[in-house]
Amino acid sequence: MDNLSNIGVIRDILDRHGFRFSKSLGQNFLINPSVCPRIAEMGNAKAGFGVIEIGTGIGVLTNELAKRADKVCAIEIDSRLMPVLAETLAEHKNIKIINDDVLKVDIKKLIDEEFQGLEVAVCANLPYYITSPIIMYLLEQRLPVRSVTVLVQKEAALRLCAELGTRDAGAVTVAVRYFSEPKILFNVSRGSFMPAPNVDSAAVRFDIKDTTPEGVSDEGFFFRTVRATFSQRRKTLVNSVSSGLGADKALVAEAAKKASLPENIRPEQLTMEQFISFSECLRTMV
Ligand code: SAM
Repeated sequence: MDNLSNIGVIRDILDRHGFRFSKSLGQNFLINPSVCPRIAEMGNAKAGFGVIEIGTGIGVLTNELAKRADKVCAIEIDSRLMPVLAETLAEHKNIKIINDDVLKVDIKKLIDEEFQGLEVAVCANLPYYITSPIIMYLLEQRLPVRSVTVLVQKEAALRLCAELGTRDAGAVTVAVRYFSEPKILFNVSRGSFMPAPNVDSAAVRFDIKDTTPEGVSDEGFFFRTVRATFSQRRKTLVNSVSSGLGADKALVAEAAKKASLPENIRPEQLTMEQFISFSECLRTMV
């Protein structure tokens, strides 16, 4: 079906299926007809590509992806939407719906089984309550994926696409910059959703890099250090890392000194190179 962003059509479908929106699942469906075609086009939904979608709702974005890409695998947690999707996406023969929690799906296996010979992209209007966990889940697995294009709350978009060393940066920013080149694509007003959330959104795309930054000998330790660094934003680097990792403060201070970092530097002031040299120094001490 092509008019899935029309409020009257959505109401009719949902009423007939007795569907009620779930706030806890982040169900804000798109009702602005210009948004999904733009996400699909800017998100690499095209010939030669298989696309993974996370969170179908009634299939408004799924429909646009299936029109453009060779194949779509769409993951939706809410089983109440399965009969809805059977109706709204009936005309497409290139869609596989997976009724599961995206964080429990083996995405690497899914790509191997479903997208043989295709390049792969991820596109989604993400449920806001788990934006960062989903993005971390996708990035940290080093999936053979060209890009991840997602609609997220504007504040999350700013954090995800922030430059390291600036106030908006957080642990997820370091992961994003480690694995990808992030870019804000366009803004989407809160009125583009039903029900309307309290904040505006933005579409962002992460172009996955072929190589990650040099000098990290243990990625697990590196990301544990990064998370500890941001665990207590108001504290200095040394204080937040020693309490976040449960490490001796004097040792952490020594590692910071060895990495040529000022004693009272704050977590959000570090560049990628400084994160790497600090975690490498720390790794040999704790
Ligand atoms: N793509 C639709 C649209 O743009 O109108 C719906 C987007 S809505 C913001 C997020 C969707 O993600 C909902 O359909 C929700 O049920 C689904 N969802 C929430 N948590 C999920 C999870 N852990 N795994 C898969 N889907 C999830």
